[in-house]
Amino acid sequence: MPRSCTLCEHPKREEIDRALVGETSNLSISSVFGVSESAVRRHKANHLPATLAKAHGAGEAARGDNLLEQVGDLQRRALGILDRAEEAGELKTALSAIREARGNLELLAKLLGELDERPVVNLNVSPEWLELRTVIVSALEPHPDARESVLRAIEGSPNGAA
Ligand SMILES: [Zn+2]
Repeated sequence: MPRSCTLCEHPKREEIDRALVGETSNLSISSVFGVSESAVRRHKANHLPATLAKAHGAGEAARGDNLLEQVGDLQRRALGILDRAEEAGELKTALSAIREARGNLELLAKLLGELDERPVVNLNVSPEWLELRTVIVSALEPHPDARESVLRAIEGSPNGAA
């Protein structure tokens, strides 16, 4: 086990990192946050660059996640309408809800495809996407046809082959 870093484990780590990026000297950081100056130096040289790179990646991912969230919200509403229409026996409404849901899914698939081409973003492991995917697929349990086309859209089978 490598020796742990008092700054990485510091409860105010984010604040410390911000200070390190700014003009604050190592010495004043060490006295303000109660850590040794050598720890500050080591953290700045070895750990800060990775943190900054990760934060940049997270910013990119956040933009993508925000779009996904909006489409996901549309999708949840379409599926909600589908449920209610089915309960009420309003098949015409149910069908258009299914069409809406499928449109949202296509949009999602496109969005994911675009986002996946960006090197720092991997939405396939984004917890929100995984959660949403589970919600969508399980919400479609009672609608095998819709579920199948949705799954096909998600998996992105080439040329739309069945
Ligand atoms: Zn560190």
